[in-house]
Amino acid sequence: CGIVGYIGQQDTKEILLNGLEKLEYRGYDSAGIATLNENGVEVTKVKGRIAALRGAVDDNVASTHGIGHTRWATHGAPSEENAHPHQSTSGRFTLVHNGVIENYVDVRDEYLAGVELKSETDTEIIVQLIEVLHNEMNDVAAAFRKAVKLLTGSYAIALIDRENKDTIYVAKNKSPLLVGLGDDFNVVASDSMAALHVTDQFLELMDKETVIVRRDGVEILSPEGDVVTREPFTAEIDA
Ligand code: GLU
Repeated sequence: CGIVGYIGQQDTKEILLNGLEKLEYRGYDSAGIATLNENGVEVTKVKGRIAALRGAVDDNVASTHGIGHTRWATHGAPSEENAHPHQSTSGRFTLVHNGVIENYVDVRDEYLAGVELKSETDTEIIVQLIEVLHNEMNDVAAAFRKAVKLLTGSYAIALIDRENKDTIYVAKNKSPLLVGLGDDFNVVASDSMAALHVTDQFLELMDKETVIVRRDGVEILSPEGDVVTREPFTAEIDA
């Protein structure tokens, strides 16, 4: 299972699908992508192979911003409804997740009383929690940070906001996730193989950091909310 994300100038679908193909070796039962443009967010997901996802993706939707996922089901059967990306009730927030949220029942009971869930996944709890916190805080980065603080378990997550065409929010805990750096784009990926077709410069992320990834820069925040500076490393391209 794995995650990819891209924000830049090029058409995103091909970059995401390419990245997901490079993550196929990790195993998965379903796959999906979400892309964002001036018309909103387009989500395509399938139970089955990336080849099926390719066939389902609408070639007419152009986008320069998106996230993708291959799922290895842990909570909820492999199905189209349980495949990622998952969306909040309003449709504003869209998220992919690898890992297991251990306290998702507690989070659901404490924060999501009035929310109608559309899937059986632990993952949907994260994106619904972000929406509920955003409704209170009116600040997406702060709601994202607070949500990450409330979650226990393992996760690599990437979030897009329909109202912000210049940001992907990411975080990890005990699941791998890297940010790949480009000149006029940035990417996120579970492993560098999924992004070597666009860059060989990567930032390592530490557990519970939150990262704001924009077209023209990346900001890493520590769990305490302090800005972290970190030098990229160069990934080896093995033939
Ligand atoms: N726990 C999540 C689910 O079952 C994510 C699984 C994964 O890592 O792909 O949907």
